[in-house]
Amino acid sequence: MSESKRLIDLLSATDEFFKTRGIDSPRRNAEALFAKALQLPRIELYLQHDRPLKDYELDQIRDLIRRRAKREPLQYLVGEVEFCNARIGLTPGLLIPRPETEELVSTLIERIPANSRILDIGCGTGCISVALSKNLEKCSVVAIDKDPDAVVQTKSNAELNEVSDRVSSLVVDLYSGSLPQEANAPFNVVVSNPPYLRTDELPSLEPEVKDHERPHALAAGVKGDECFVRIAELIPDILNSSGILALEFGIHQENRVRELFEPVLTELTIYRDIQGKERFLIGKR
Ligand code: GLN
Repeated sequence: MSESKRLIDLLSATDEFFKTRGIDSPRRNAEALFAKALQLPRIELYLQHDRPLKDYELDQIRDLIRRRAKREPLQYLVGEVEFCNARIGLTPGLLIPRPETEELVSTLIERIPANSRILDIGCGTGCISVALSKNLEKCSVVAIDKDPDAVVQTKSNAELNEVSDRVSSLVVDLYSGSLPQEANAPFNVVVSNPPYLRTDELPSLEPEVKDHERPHALAAGVKGDECFVRIAELIPDILNSSGILALEFGIHQENRVRELFEPVLTELTIYRDIQGKERFLIGKR
């Protein structure tokens, strides 16, 4: 086997290649893809740096490198992310869990009383539902999404994290109707990271986002506020009195969410994310 097939050399060559393709954090991307193809923890790549690679391993690595260079999201290629200590499997197309949403979940966890029943609107991969139920053992979650793939993924992530006894997921489109009887509204907590971008923002997003994540998971109409309008309308039916509402929203939407939710809540606090941007609303009915 030739020198150039040593793991460490290929890893460095991939790092350089990703740099030329404008991939953010090229080394981290290369390591993650090698670890995936070789089914090794990342640290082993360095412990086995001298290891020659077999042809079938090279084929797998090359396929992943090619796809990443074409801006397929790293998370879809690896197939899983960590979110608030939960393992979240990903179906390509579903919104990839973001670090901001982890911040929302961490803030919310401290405010949820024991035995709460929680509704997660637009559950996507199920990251919020699974993380909440994993961290709050006495609570249960109903997770809804209009995308059937999201509901299937949420079920599978609940199983992966051993919380399927406390997470139920349902296909529901809240635009075309209300919650089905089986959801058993109202809830003690309603949480949502809905789509909130304006449709005209989609073309300027990174290729990983605009070409791979489904538009209905990202944008909500020309003003980006359609989901918030609908959630505000539903609050009296879905949230118990003195129940908690927690929402993620986008840049420049603070005034709009205040306008929509101040009339239906008694307390409303806006939180900034780690970047200093107004990003979350937590309120009480
Ligand atoms: N946060 C998403 C983005 O960064 C937008 C939609 C969402 O998370 N609800 O593109």
